[in-house]
Amino acid sequence: MLQTTCGLSMQGRGKKARGRKCFFAFIASLGLAFVATEASALSISVAEVRSGNEFPLVGGKALNAPKSYSGSGTLAAIMNSAGRSWEDAIADGVRVTIHYGWGTLGSNVLGRATVVQHEATIVFNNNYKNWFVDSTPEVNNEYGAMKKKTTIVHDISMNSARYFRATQSGDAKGHYDLLTVARHEVGHGVGALFHVDDTIKSLDQALLVPSLMPGLRRDLSTYDAYKTAEFAGYMGYSTYGNVVATPLPAALPLAISAIGALGALSAMSRKRAANNIDAC
Ligand SMILES: [Zn+2]
Repeated sequence: MLQTTCGLSMQGRGKKARGRKCFFAFIASLGLAFVATEASALSISVAEVRSGNEFPLVGGKALNAPKSYSGSGTLAAIMNSAGRSWEDAIADGVRVTIHYGWGTLGSNVLGRATVVQHEATIVFNNNYKNWFVDSTPEVNNEYGAMKKKTTIVHDISMNSARYFRATQSGDAKGHYDLLTVARHEVGHGVGALFHVDDTIKSLDQALLVPSLMPGLRRDLSTYDAYKTAEFAGYMGYSTYGNVVATPLPAALPLAISAIGALGALSAMSRKRAANNIDAC
């Protein structure tokens, strides 16, 4: 069984944040490829590990939420929202179980996902006091208008970022968005055992890049969904924004999923999932 540990870095801003700091991390263990047998939405069950209980897969005790943070939301509501986002993003019959809670992580790590086949444990760093915990994760009213980026994949124009910057006076300003970290880590949990290269300008605000700045929120982009589906061997992925849903040239004509506008992906890519585990 392959296993890898990834430490990710953040984009610094201001004196304190300058330099490279690890911000997300994941430990991945993938013993076999995902098996998809039907074209339907991915199913994600999220289960909170409450303070004092042991984390499945990784061990160690869950702790209380940070003593203080911005916003009045809860990790549970954030994780439910993040799970729904990925259910919408991936078309496949696979069921994924994700355990999550607050815990102890390295000082530079916001969140960590440990992935074993279709089960994952996500730990969020309870030592940070500068989280933004949005009480309305489905609404981006602490942020400005959505910004977008586009990239080219196999000669096809594809949305590669959907992101927001915090408004000057809102609760999100200067804080790390827990929802963004949850979406990022849930992505690892559903099989995105890689990071998008944030040195490429058209990709540097994708959800699955290894870096985050305070005051920034990222949503799933078509590129995130596509790369995850390709890597894990899922049957289809959602597209977002002004993107034409076109099966990529490499795709085989699988059954097109019932949900939304989807690209079809090759079943051949499933074999890659078992072998192609990035060291990040
Ligand atoms: Zn990551």
